[in-house]
Amino acid sequence: MADSKSAGSGATRPGRRAIVERIFDHNADTRSLFLRSPDSPPVSFVPGQFISISIPLSDETRTRAYTIASSPEDGEPFEICFNRVRGGRGVDYLFGCDTGDELSFTGPFGLFTLDRPPESELVFVAIGTGIAPIRPMLRRLLASRFAHPFHLLYGASDEAHLLYRSELEGWTHAHRHFALELVTAPAAAAPDEIYDRIRAIVASRWVKSDTVRARQFYICGVGPGVLGIRDLLRSSGYERRSVKYEQW
Ligand SMILES: Cc1cc2nc3c(=O)[nH]c(=O)nc-3n(C[C@H](O)[C@H](O)[C@H](O)COP(=O)(O)OP(=O)(O)OC[C@H]3O[C@@H](n4cnc5c(N)ncnc54)[C@H](O)[C@@H]3O)c2cc1C
Repeated sequence: MADSKSAGSGATRPGRRAIVERIFDHNADTRSLFLRSPDSPPVSFVPGQFISISIPLSDETRTRAYTIASSPEDGEPFEICFNRVRGGRGVDYLFGCDTGDELSFTGPFGLFTLDRPPESELVFVAIGTGIAPIRPMLRRLLASRFAHPFHLLYGASDEAHLLYRSELEGWTHAHRHFALELVTAPAAAAPDEIYDRIRAIVASRWVKSDTVRARQFYICGVGPGVLGIRDLLRSSGYERRSVKYEQW
């Protein structure tokens, strides 16, 4: 399971409130909520962390993790970004929220983070809303004097699901060390096909084409495809700690 999932139950911690200040629809099934906490101190987090939202359904209260997609430097409101899931009653509740509504959450939590840039090349691999933790990490690197190459390989089912695209493309002009590669699945592809494509690119670029194993990887997406990419890298000579991942 995700490296950071175990760090995030937060069951015994007191909850905080967040008010929905703004709503933004990225596409037909992906939405961002911009949240402001009326409680003090202000919400403080490290790029990559998530909050655990308490979701009151008619027959249960479930807790679901949502990553903070904005940057600590931005302060509040902070942003969470999520997509509809088949049968996903938790996320359906969030889609039903309106501006002014109040949510209860604990956190931020999580170890899938990038606080201080390391002294090595970095490769970020994101699929769909898996860009959420990676976006503030990239912002942190862009704001620092990071002197190593850093790449984002970002895949989605189709063009409409490549989130924050113009922002990401703008960063390639602003930072000479940043490289972006966008990948989509062919029309009518099976849901997992994007993971197969991404895995093939990772294999050809960072496994087969050289013997360098000093890079660090951050991988985020949904389901076993994330583990497939992780295992490919770890079994190819990259150290375990150099391949960080978060699987939703
Ligand atoms: C550390 C962490 C951070 C997360 N951050 C985000 C986030 O920023 N944005 C976000 O959309 N989700 C995120 N998730 C997933 C989120 O917590 C919920 O699992 C998701 O919204 C579905 O919850 P549900 O109660 O509606 O559905 P459930 O009934 O719990 O159904 C869950 C099923 O949906 C799958 N699933 C989970 N997330 C997705 C997804 N995004 N797309 C497709 N299938 C999915 C699960 O693998 C599982 O099979 C995160 C999960 C973890 C563990």
